[in-house]
Amino acid sequence: MFPLRILLLFLTIATATSLQGIVHVVKKGDNLTTISKAYNVSISDLKKANNIKDADNISIGQKLEIPGSAPSFTEYKIRNGESLSSIAARHGVTAKELGAFNGIRDFDKIRAGQVIRIPSKSGAIAKKYSRLPWSVRNELGKIAIKKGQWKNIVIHHSGTVADRAKNIDRFHREERNMENGIAYHFVIENGTRGTKNGDIYISERWKKQLHGGHMKLWAHNQIAIGICLIGNFEKSRPKAKQLEQLEALIAYLQEKAGVPDKGVTTHTLMHPKHTLCPGKFFPTSQLKRMLN
Ligand SMILES: [Zn+2]
Repeated sequence: MFPLRILLLFLTIATATSLQGIVHVVKKGDNLTTISKAYNVSISDLKKANNIKDADNISIGQKLEIPGSAPSFTEYKIRNGESLSSIAARHGVTAKELGAFNGIRDFDKIRAGQVIRIPSKSGAIAKKYSRLPWSVRNELGKIAIKKGQWKNIVIHHSGTVADRAKNIDRFHREERNMENGIAYHFVIENGTRGTKNGDIYISERWKKQLHGGHMKLWAHNQIAIGICLIGNFEKSRPKAKQLEQLEALIAYLQEKAGVPDKGVTTHTLMHPKHTLCPGKFFPTSQLKRMLN
C-alpha cells in the first residue's frame, strides 16, 4: 500500500507542474460553488478536471486544478544570436516564466533551431493575478463587471504617509460630501493605521460598478477605474508588497474588464499640469515595462 501512495503522490505533482495552470489549494470555508465563482469556471468543469464525484467531498489542503487556466501557447523556433530573455521580452513574458514553461533550467543552454513554447499573454496575465489572495479573488469574483464600461485604470497615491481606506472613505463622505463615499474603486493599504501592508480594499463604487470621483473631469470619472495606494510618493517609494498587489490587481482588471495596456496610466500622466500624483517616487516606467 505504501509504494502505491508514493506513486500517486508523484503522479499528482507531475500533473500539477506539467499543466502550468492555476492550482487552487482548498482552504477552510471553501466549497466548489465559491471556487467556481472566484475563477469563473463551471462546477461541472471543476469536477471533471479534478475527478470529483461528490461535490461535498473536498478537503482542506486538497489541490484543485482550475480548468481553462492552463495557458495556451505558440511554438517558436530559436534563431541565431537570440537569448531566452530577448525572446521573452518580445512576447510579453519574463525569461524566468519562459524557462519554467519549457523546463529550461540553464538559460545559456538554448541553441538556434530549437523549438520552444511561448505561453500566450492571457496565460501570463492569469498567472499574475493568481498572486491576489484567495479572499480578494473570491470577493472580486462576486462582482458583475459592466462590460465595455472601463477604458482606463488610473493610479493615485493618498499623499498621506499613515492612512487607511476607511479614513479616506469617511473624509470623502463627510468633508467632501461625496454620497457614494471614497472616490476610488480600490485602495492598497501600506500597513499603517492598523492595516496590513498590501491589503486591497474594494470600495462600494466597484461593488456597485459606479463612476469614480478621483478625476477632475466627469468624462474621465465615468470610464476610469481609480486605484489609490496609501503613501506619499513624493517623499518615498511605495512598499514592495503594495506594488506586487497593484500589478496583480491590474492584471485581473485588464483581463476581466477589458482595459487595454495603453489605458493603464497615472493621475499625472492624465493631468500633468493639475497634479504630481502619484508622486515622483512612484515607478511609472517599471509599471509600463510590466505591461509590455
Ligand atoms: Zn490622484
